[in-house]
Amino acid sequence: MSMESAQSEGSPGPRRPLEFDPERWLAAIVESSDDAIVGESLDGTITSWNKGAERIFGYTAEEAIGRTVKDLAWPGAEEHIEMLLGKLSHGERVQHFETLRKHKSGRKILVSLSLSPIVGDDGRVIGIAKIARDVTERTALQESLTQRTDQVRRLIEREAHARAEALAERRFHELIENAPDAIVQMDENGTIAIANKATEMLFGYDHDELIGSGFGLLVPEGQHDAQEEDRTSFVQVGGSWRMGQESDLRALRKDGTEFPVEISLSSITMERGVQVTAVIRDVTERRRSQEEVRRLQESYMAELQSRREEAERLNRVKSEFLAALAHELRTPLHTIGGFAELLNEEMEGTLTKAQKEFVQHIRQDSQHLLQLIDDVLDFSRIEAGGMQVRTEPLPLRDAMAEAVSAIQPHAEAKGVALQTSDPGDALVMADPMRLRQIFYNLLSNAVKFTATGGEVSVTATSEGGLIRVTVADTGIGISPDEQSMIFKKFYQVGYTPGGAGLGLAICKQLVEMQGGSISVESEVNRGTQFHFNLVKASAVTQVTG
Ligand code: ADP
Repeated sequence: MSMESAQSEGSPGPRRPLEFDPERWLAAIVESSDDAIVGESLDGTITSWNKGAERIFGYTAEEAIGRTVKDLAWPGAEEHIEMLLGKLSHGERVQHFETLRKHKSGRKILVSLSLSPIVGDDGRVIGIAKIARDVTERTALQESLTQRTDQVRRLIEREAHARAEALAERRFHELIENAPDAIVQMDENGTIAIANKATEMLFGYDHDELIGSGFGLLVPEGQHDAQEEDRTSFVQVGGSWRMGQESDLRALRKDGTEFPVEISLSSITMERGVQVTAVIRDVTERRRSQEEVRRLQESYMAELQSRREEAERLNRVKSEFLAALAHELRTPLHTIGGFAELLNEEMEGTLTKAQKEFVQHIRQDSQHLLQLIDDVLDFSRIEAGGMQVRTEPLPLRDAMAEAVSAIQPHAEAKGVALQTSDPGDALVMADPMRLRQIFYNLLSNAVKFTATGGEVSVTATSEGGLIRVTVADTGIGISPDEQSMIFKKFYQVGYTPGGAGLGLAICKQLVEMQGGSISVESEVNRGTQFHFNLVKASAVTQVTG
């Protein structure tokens, strides 16, 4: 019935557009859809089949309706159908499920399924509405697009790689070309394949003359065999070699001149066989400067030797002269001292007070002079290596007592107290005469530099294998600056009458010659301590009591 007639008949109900018929309208949509729209029962039996389904699967509605969808499955994809039917019968919806189906012609098709349950009036699922879209082409398109993209990407990568390789190769060639050393690449027979600019410059050949020539071209006649042998064994052993560092390896220029070289060889195995690379360095300059250094060294050594000999000779002359002088001086000095002694004893008649005083001066000064001469003589002997020290085990107690009694008169005369501690039975390894000399020097200095009323002491302590002897005074002291100088020869703090600044220098030498060492501690205006070590005599040689 048409709308118009319904209206003309004046029938009740809403006014509807004349042409609207929902069922036909729906049927038209279903028929015109590109997608397959299929109705199925819950067991998969096809109940409706549109034109889209016909196009996608190849079957007409007559052929399809009544058959089961399982007939349409691509072998292996049947289980999808079971699974989907299961879901749908529970009222679930399925969206865009992709699975494989078979076209009537046997062709494989990929479909994307959207499935909805059809619910009856009682709320139970009574069927399935299915929309299937053929995505075979889309997938194929996508695949081919992916393939294309991959191809393009690979091409771009290959291109970038090739560019990088070309760049690296160009850089490498530039590097070799501009290297300061001659670089030559040859095959295992020595035929040159590559030679850089430096090779041309160093050897005087053009590039073309080098390429294809044997390496022997660059080697002097006399070294041809050795060069061949070296290369052959190098090719066998491989790795890298350096030649010419110790031996005199020479290379030959085109103009026939030779020059010294160092060669580094390295090998690589390539498709066309082993390739040997030789880096050749011209060492003319280096050899020349080495030779120059050697020559300078030689002449310096010769000069040094002749100076040493001259110094030794002069020293000998000096020592001989000093010895002779000392001898010549000592004899008259002894005479002077002896006669002054006689006068002092007044055997030849009484002296006036003034005469006695003058005689005392003569005695004292001749004593000083004798001491001075002995010091000079000792030191020149030590310097010339002519001073012998013979150590033996000595009781330290005796040595100390002897030293103290020798200096006692001087101390008493000056009003300086002299103290000593008992060192016990210690035995020291010392030369008796030299030890006496050390004690005398230190003690006479101590008395000399201590004012009346002061005190001088000698003590000894045992320290491991050593005995440490200390000569201390309460005298004028020595400033820190001067403490480091006083052991040097001819050093005096200011002018000291009766000395030559040799006493402590001699003491130092003598102590060291006996295996010990000497040091000083001092404070100005408070006093000074000289310490020296002596080696203890071993227990075997000890004498007790
Ligand atoms: P010299 O034989 O001329 O005294 P020394 O080598 O024995 O020479 O001494 C060097 C200097 O060290 C002395 O001139 C003196 O100034 C200083 N000296 C040495 N012993 C003492 C001391 N006990 N107290 C202060 N000064 C000292």
